[in-house]
Amino acid sequence: MEARANDMVTITLPDGSTKSLPKGTTVREVAQAIGPRLAKDAWAGKLDGKVVDLVTPIESDAALEIITVKSPDAVPIYRHSTAHLTAQAVKRLFPDVQIGIGPPIENGYYYDFLPARPFTPEDLSAIEAEMRKIIQEDLAITREEMPVTQAISIFEGQHDPLKVEIAKGLGDERCSCYRQGEFVDLCRGPHVASTGRLGVFKLTHTAGAYWKGDEKNPMLQRIYGASFLTQKELDDYLHRMEEAKARDHRKLGKELDLYSFHPWAPASPFFHPKGTVLYNSLFEYLRAEYAKRGYQEVVTPQIFDADLFKLSGHYQNYHDNMYWTVIDEREFGVKPMNCPGHFLLYNTRLWSYRDLPVRYADFGRLHRYELSGVTAGLTRVRTFSQDDAHIFTPFDKVEDEIFRFLDFVDAVYGAFGFDEVEISLGLRPEKRIGADELWDRGEKALASALEKAGRKHVVTPGDGAFYGPKIDFRVKDALGRPWQLGTIQIDFEHPESFDMTYIGEDGQQHRPAVMHRAILGSFERFLGILVEHTAGNFPFWISPVQAVVLPVSEKFNAAAESVASRLKEGGLRVEVDEKNEKLGARIRKAELQKTPAMLVVGEKEAAAGTVSVRLRHGGDAGTVSVEEFLTLAGKAIAERRKELMTVEVKNR
Ligand SMILES: [Zn+2]
Ligand SMILES: [Zn+2]
Repeated sequence: MEARANDMVTITLPDGSTKSLPKGTTVREVAQAIGPRLAKDAWAGKLDGKVVDLVTPIESDAALEIITVKSPDAVPIYRHSTAHLTAQAVKRLFPDVQIGIGPPIENGYYYDFLPARPFTPEDLSAIEAEMRKIIQEDLAITREEMPVTQAISIFEGQHDPLKVEIAKGLGDERCSCYRQGEFVDLCRGPHVASTGRLGVFKLTHTAGAYWKGDEKNPMLQRIYGASFLTQKELDDYLHRMEEAKARDHRKLGKELDLYSFHPWAPASPFFHPKGTVLYNSLFEYLRAEYAKRGYQEVVTPQIFDADLFKLSGHYQNYHDNMYWTVIDEREFGVKPMNCPGHFLLYNTRLWSYRDLPVRYADFGRLHRYELSGVTAGLTRVRTFSQDDAHIFTPFDKVEDEIFRFLDFVDAVYGAFGFDEVEISLGLRPEKRIGADELWDRGEKALASALEKAGRKHVVTPGDGAFYGPKIDFRVKDALGRPWQLGTIQIDFEHPESFDMTYIGEDGQQHRPAVMHRAILGSFERFLGILVEHTAGNFPFWISPVQAVVLPVSEKFNAAAESVASRLKEGGLRVEVDEKNEKLGARIRKAELQKTPAMLVVGEKEAAAGTVSVRLRHGGDAGTVSVEEFLTLAGKAIAERRKELMTVEVKNR
């Protein structure tokens, strides 16, 4: 009996119970020992946290979880198996195509191929059809352990030099392959038991990808597939993708004539007149809020001597992201952030505790070098401005500043229709400056402010800036995608390095706390997000064109012009469309431009001094006098309404 004990292993199950089984028992056998039902449902095992195949023998004591379709670990297995299915179908249709690798990714998987010519959309349909056929064949998917040399000869035999290269690079003596019918792939697994278990997928697109991500290697063709465990999830995902494509801010920016790019100013947007209206509305809105909330706007230089950036640390830590120039044999840098300039500004005078907090807001233009590969439309640009501000305050007022900021953030996100806001509190990272007492104090102030304000938040240890803890704000857009927008950060570094002081109540010199904060962040990026969030249906109060006046026919052009000038006088942004086209066509055009209000002027309206109102979502909204329309529009602007209200117009 003594000797036998050494041949046993103890397996700990998720419920804490243990099983003593002979060494070498496979994961599937453990599942069988637990129950036949589980054995049937088992996809794979999780052995000491590592996902393994059902045929994996257990050689030593371990914790084991059986993965079934209900486990989150089932999803990547399903996607990876669908990737193999794709490769098998490609091999059947295009025997000369070489196969690369095919991992699961978020929402699906990809597989890399080296074809003689790029895949066409028709190829993708054919591959999908072949995949469905292989599912019908319900081929068993089996694991085969073998010496690497054997795997190499298999892949040499099926003319897959890329696979041979991977096998040669393994550095192990043995490896595993997975076989389904005639198709073999070098793979660690695990996989579903047979191709018949697959089926919820859609090949979405192809893209070029260098072998092993190295541009010196040949360019492969990557086929992307979307794949989920249920058809509903796949349908929802594909629907969201369609929506996202329709809302793409690069596409809408062109259609609505908002902004464009030119290769001679890479990743630097041109805002057209309508885009500029939007851009300036953000400024004006924030300026008005700043005035109410105790901020002071400042204007600071664009280019500074390199010495400033040496003092601020940008020279040492941010050099490659900045633009540099030499003038009069002095080195200058274009500012990537407003902070260093604000620190100089703070130090231009003496401060008493009575003067603080002081809040400097700056819409200054910033330049940051971003690699061209990562720039995409407005979401990552090389020149932008921010709703940036720096707060200088005695430390005991930090908490109060957080309360004020929370209130400010709520108002701003609400005004743009972002109702879902997630807050996270980033604590000290490994690499940081400043004494631990300072960090204790700073983290406590932020946490207690969030606590007292009753704001739900997640704590993210290690996520703070290197100079201090921070609170980040993420909004969810209409498609449920999260966007990091606002932040407020305490800075322990720069009050020291810039030797900032104020005279306290005790008559002594103290260091102020510096806080960096932004609500929208970069206006460029925010506009990109807003375009996609609203699909171009901008809130009435910032719409580039709030109303378009449409004469029924040429006869009423003069009447339409006079309506438009009255509305412009009243402060609205108005256009007249008196092109020689049918009224219906002009209404359609205004709708495509997502104009909130269309005001039709015909014989009756011209005589009575009224307009027939159509709204972009509500259709016909009744007839009102020009003055009444002005009042309604003024109210919608003052209340920052998304739309003019149909009922209000109709009830007149
Ligand atoms: Zn694989
Ligand atoms: Zn800053």
